[in-house]
Amino acid sequence: MKCQHCDETFSDSVIPYHEERCEQNPANFPVEREEEKDIDKKIEDMTIPELKVVAEKNNIDIGGLAKKDEILAAILAAKPNGD
Ligand SMILES: [Zn+2]
Repeated sequence: MKCQHCDETFSDSVIPYHEERCEQNPANFPVEREEEKDIDKKIEDMTIPELKVVAEKNNIDIGGLAKKDEILAAILAAKPNGD
């Protein structure tokens, strides 16, 4: 699909997100990479490897945790604004 603002082509999953931002600031909005879009997904929907990446980036110690529920709880406890 093509963005109606900047004429760049994006996949269907990215285009609504992109267009919303592009409309507000087309000149300053760079092409969104799919990997970055993934980082924005809800923490509850993440897999264990993804949760571990989030924990690592936020310096959250999940060393002894193996279950998704436990890792998720640790991240949420450490990130008050975790969306
Ligand atoms: Zn655009």
